[in-house]
Amino acid sequence: MIQDYEQHQALRDNYDFCIIGAGPAGITLGLRLAAAGWNVLLAEGGGREYAAHSQGLYACASTGLELYVEETRLRYLGGTSNHWAGRCRPFTPSDFAMAPPGDLPGWPIPYSEIEGYLPAAMDIVDLPPGSDFRAMNAGLEGGDFEADRFLLSTPTRFAQKYAMALEQTKGLDVFINCNCVDLEYDKASGHLVAVVLSDYQRNRQRLVARNFILATGAIENARQLLNSQSLVAAGVVSREGLVGGCFMEHLNIDLGTFILKSGLDPVPRQYYTTDAFINEYKAGKGNVTAALLADVQTYGRTAEVKYFLENMACDMGFAHKIEFVAKFSCPGDGVISTMIEQFPNLHSRISLLDEKDALGVAKVNVNWALSADDRHTIKCIGSELAKQFADMDLGFVKLNEFVYDTSVPLKMAPHAHHMGTTRMAASPEFGVVDADCKVFGTENLYVAGSSIFAKGGASNPTMPLLQFAVRLADHLNSKMRAANGAAA
Ligand SMILES: Cc1cc2nc3c(=O)[nH]c(=O)nc-3n(C[C@H](O)[C@H](O)[C@H](O)COP(=O)(O)OP(=O)(O)OC[C@H]3O[C@@H](n4cnc5c(N)ncnc54)[C@H](O)[C@@H]3O)c2cc1C
Repeated sequence: MIQDYEQHQALRDNYDFCIIGAGPAGITLGLRLAAAGWNVLLAEGGGREYAAHSQGLYACASTGLELYVEETRLRYLGGTSNHWAGRCRPFTPSDFAMAPPGDLPGWPIPYSEIEGYLPAAMDIVDLPPGSDFRAMNAGLEGGDFEADRFLLSTPTRFAQKYAMALEQTKGLDVFINCNCVDLEYDKASGHLVAVVLSDYQRNRQRLVARNFILATGAIENARQLLNSQSLVAAGVVSREGLVGGCFMEHLNIDLGTFILKSGLDPVPRQYYTTDAFINEYKAGKGNVTAALLADVQTYGRTAEVKYFLENMACDMGFAHKIEFVAKFSCPGDGVISTMIEQFPNLHSRISLLDEKDALGVAKVNVNWALSADDRHTIKCIGSELAKQFADMDLGFVKLNEFVYDTSVPLKMAPHAHHMGTTRMAASPEFGVVDADCKVFGTENLYVAGSSIFAKGGASNPTMPLLQFAVRLADHLNSKMRAANGAAA
């Protein structure tokens, strides 16, 4: 049942699981764990709709590259799925097999650990069962790029699609307007004993449960851990260590422009780096889209904005006048855009500020930073693509200077894919959660969402994070059954 915490604050004290955050990760876990017979509390900070007092709690500082961090997250039931675009591409075995450059390891588990959860994740976001991720078009000859493969979810809006299930699933209590403001850790037992919940009037109460799962998105998952005095005092969380470190995005780079050879089919061309490319150049992965300006691909909400502006301009007969307002400089037939992998680096991080939000939780600073390895990836992808366009006689590519000259500042935008702030590793030396998504140094605190990604790859994060969420639900179900069996 969905209840408003502002109206009803009498919480039970016998929950098996307390999940913080009702976005795609939290809703998936809540429904699965309750369906398996457990008592679950799903605490969502926002209400049923957008509200400034909730969204305002996401306000943070930024000292790094521009991330639009307040615009690219939504703080209410359904989370950021309320405006995600629905593009889905699975990870591949090489995402898990190859370590990033530098001192940090890659994933501590093989791809086979999440492969089996792909059908369940596809079902959750309404992708047809058994459908292959189709190749969008021909690849580029030469071995560096293949045709990209992806599917588009409707896009599934989690609060709407799962509204009835959230209301009716036995054992599941969903509280909206219910904000987690602290995590209470007991060093002697190694257990998180309670979370502190707050309404918008700052009335606080403790909620005791057997297990806790943070599912508040990559920035907030790190913020909750960093904000907990008891976790920091016990040495489980270090404010200068891995919690909050290795923040990753996908790089949205305007590589340059191209003129297609006359007579060639002007369909958008979407390419993806091959494993041979990443092995040869020791570079990251990337999706490259070469599209004629009229066909620049837009999905979900951005598509709606594009159609709205096009229709308005045409209906009102001022399409030709737009150039008086904004004159675009587009020298070629088309633009080449990307979604490129960022490697994990500890300088790219979320850190705690002294300033507090309206509920008394410390705000954070986001320092999104790239490394020389990322500039190398961008350079390799740009220059190899231009070479292959020429080799195949497809047309002419004009790369932007910052692509091949790494001393020139990058022009770049993020993709709103926040990853890596509580990375998975085999040991606490290299990560925050273990292979079961449990926070190192705790017995019962888990993390869900793309903050656990050890590497970002160049696949959109939501479907893979759902694979991990379903896997975590399975693991917790088994763990609890074993614990209950042992106690009987
Ligand atoms: C414009 C846009 C387009 C996107 N398009 C795509 C795409 O095409 N493909 C793709 O794979 N991904 C896309 N994404 C990313 C996608 O939205 C996220 O990967 C996904 O929503 C993450 O799910 P989550 O459950 O981990 O976090 P979120 O969706 O961020 O949910 C977190 C939840 O936690 C709640 N919460 C936060 N703090 C607290 C607290 N203290 N107490 C209680 N509750 C709290 C929030 O209110 C929210 O409901 C897009 C994102 C944006 C912004």
